[in-house]
Amino acid sequence: MGRKTRRQLLGQHFLHEKKILNKIIEAIQPGPRDLIIEIGPGQGALTFFLTEKAGQVLAIEKDYALVQALEKNQPENLEIIAGDVLKMDLRSVIRNYSLKPQTIKLAGNLPYHISSQILFLLLEVRDLIERAVFLFQKELAERITAAPGTKKYAPLSILLQNYFDCQTLFQVKPGAFRPPPKVDSTCLLFLTRDKPQYFPESHQEAFFNFLKNCFAQRRKTLSRNLETSGYRKEQVQEILTGLGLEWRIRAEALPPETLYSIYTLLKKPS
Ligand code: SAM
Repeated sequence: MGRKTRRQLLGQHFLHEKKILNKIIEAIQPGPRDLIIEIGPGQGALTFFLTEKAGQVLAIEKDYALVQALEKNQPENLEIIAGDVLKMDLRSVIRNYSLKPQTIKLAGNLPYHISSQILFLLLEVRDLIERAVFLFQKELAERITAAPGTKKYAPLSILLQNYFDCQTLFQVKPGAFRPPPKVDSTCLLFLTRDKPQYFPESHQEAFFNFLKNCFAQRRKTLSRNLETSGYRKEQVQEILTGLGLEWRIRAEALPPETLYSIYTLLKKPS
């Protein structure tokens, strides 16, 4: 395999299909009181449409050649930051650029190899934003929006759905990009919830680690997975029975509320 070009390293696949661009803009709902933060504007396919409708647009782009090209046609309500979003303190960036009262929205068609980091960035700024619209590789999008009882349901689904109403908007075929990627894409809308849906923020880290244990080996029972991670089998099975559950149940069959109840009960000294 040869060396990767700069374009490949930066995951540059530029959107050109008008219909798709319109649908993404529609999902962002840019308005005069909005600050839209676009990560990875590229050649500005979305950016310039956004500046037509939004009060202010802040675009963060790592490729300096693209930043310079964007600056040539820069409307007054567009700020461009040259740099790697993953190395920035996005909370401070938002605080520095936003004017009150403004609705803050995040958007981006980003390289898929940084999708997970973008999701954690999204979680970090969740209390500052009203919504986010991102394209992801189809399989990851399915995992984010998965419901209990489905094969794709995972700790990540529970973590994100706790804070956002995660909606699948539409699929995007490789032909909508130049050059076309090798995978199918899905556009997701994240609407920030007023308050966490399933577990309090203070338990996020511990509960997420617990979930990773619960789902460690998907074909194994919840009780087996928890036993492997150090819990006593009898205690787990007693809790499951107490909740009216089959002790052979798998984690993927349980809704987030039930998994959180099990976590809470296991934390109590027996
Ligand atoms: N949004 C444009 C579009 O839809 O045509 C460009 C999409 S392209 C898939 C991803 C863009 O993100 C590229 O312009 C790339 O240079 C930029 N990018 C990649 N990694 C980045 C990072 N860590 N921080 C900021 N921008 C990044």
